[in-house]
Amino acid sequence: QKQFDPSKRTIVLLGTGWGAVSFLKKLNTDDFNVIIVSPRNYFLFTPLLPSCTVGTIELRSIMEPIRFITRHKSRNVKFYESECTDIDPESKTISITDVSDIKGAVSNTTIPYDYLVVAIGADNQTFGMAGVREHACFLKEIWDAQKIRTRLMDCVESAGFASQTPEEVSRLLHMVVVGGGPTGVEYAAELHDFLKDDLQIWYPELVDKLRITLVEALPNVLPMFSSQLIQYTERTFKQNNIEVLTKTMVKEVADKEIKVMDANKNMVSIPYGLLVWATGNCPRPLARKLMARLKEGGQSSPRGLLIDEYMRVAGAQDMYAIGDCTFTKYAPTAQVATQQGLYLASVFANLARIERGENRKISPFEYTHQGSLAYIGSDRAIADLPFLNGNVSVGGVATYVFWRSVYISNMFSFRNRFLVVGDWVKSRIFGRDVSRE
Ligand code: FAD
Ligand code: NAD
Repeated sequence: QKQFDPSKRTIVLLGTGWGAVSFLKKLNTDDFNVIIVSPRNYFLFTPLLPSCTVGTIELRSIMEPIRFITRHKSRNVKFYESECTDIDPESKTISITDVSDIKGAVSNTTIPYDYLVVAIGADNQTFGMAGVREHACFLKEIWDAQKIRTRLMDCVESAGFASQTPEEVSRLLHMVVVGGGPTGVEYAAELHDFLKDDLQIWYPELVDKLRITLVEALPNVLPMFSSQLIQYTERTFKQNNIEVLTKTMVKEVADKEIKVMDANKNMVSIPYGLLVWATGNCPRPLARKLMARLKEGGQSSPRGLLIDEYMRVAGAQDMYAIGDCTFTKYAPTAQVATQQGLYLASVFANLARIERGENRKISPFEYTHQGSLAYIGSDRAIADLPFLNGNVSVGGVATYVFWRSVYISNMFSFRNRFLVVGDWVKSRIFGRDVSRE
């Protein structure tokens, strides 16, 4: 690999998620020095994260160390496992902090950039509601899936404790999911499969008491899917005994119960053992700080960084942003972040050519929607796919096979594909592991 070249410009890339890794994979590092800053030294394949909460897939199977990616680049790419805590667009520097448990003599520093690519994703939306961060589990990062898996088994084992009271058995075995977007739906689906395939065998005395409830503020789940697929999902959930409470908004969260306003505007208390919170995204503190700094330059939305169609951050020089940290007309999905990352790498290829004196025109970003897919349990998936200027909505077992093949082919490495397929085969043959970690 070629080494750092002071005569070349340096791109500092924040993040190792979908946007950042797509960008990095396509970027020609002959033209630039690259420094990556991220608190996570791996890429996470989020679409299969719900499967990790019950052990259908093991966590490490969907993680790809960032160094497995950087080693294939023509120039050595530096990686600092740290969090960017501040961006100074005036001096073109960023502050970084080692936020891991183990630190050396230096754990804070400042690094300069010529170009900055912000791909830091988003935080979990809590609407500032007290109790959510303390008592609920999110489903965004690897440790969230791990926490859910542990708590779930803890609830089941505590419900089986000697002479446990019937009220506590009922509470401990009530798994409540807040948010009927794809994250909440896919989690409820995986939980149902675990219940039907495994808990039924290992906890026959408890399994009939285990309940799954999905709470959604809107009149239906999965608002981004066609009405036909929404109905199909709601029917499948009904068959699978997943209770869906629509037009129901969570108002308060305590350690053992939530208070909701139901469809009739009554306040109702719902006791729970496990609470999974999936009500969407909000900007991370770093993005909020940057937005406040660039307010005069046009950062006027509280929902994320505003960018133009070339991914340039409004109000800053030589700064780009992609993925969930931005607020655009597109949904915050891996599909969008990936296409933006690939596009931005081509922008940099053109910038390098222009610097070499070639005549190049940079075209604006164009998004191509390849469809929406979600797993809904019992080996069924749903898909809204663009087809001949229209849309095809399909659901069922064949769609599930398609769902699996799409996700496998979208994984970045053969190693991850191999591990995931191995996990699928393993959980089919031996069942999922019910030990509490
Ligand atoms: P991320 O992938 O979240 O990456 C952000 C990166 O920034 C991370 O590496 C993080 O560690 C790093 N970072 C955070 N803070 C800092 C900081 N201060 N400094 C430096 N680095 C920082 N989308 C789909 O299209 N299809 C799906 O099937 C799908 N399934 C999903 C399932 C789940 C459970 C979830 C949670 C999301 C799913 N999504 C799906 C959405 C998709 O994961 C996101 O849209 C996508 O991850 C956005 O990519 P990103 O690069 O913007 O952010
Ligand atoms: P989301 O924003 O898609 O859905 C959140 C849901 O929570 C909404 O339906 C909202 O009405 C509901 N909600 C909000 N506050 C509530 C409250 N107080 N009480 C009850 N319900 C409340 O969030 P998500 O599911 O986490 O998805 C985030 C992004 O990731 C989306 O863009 C989504 O498309 C993407 N994603 C895609 C897939 C997939 O394609 N299979 C899977 C997961 C996530």
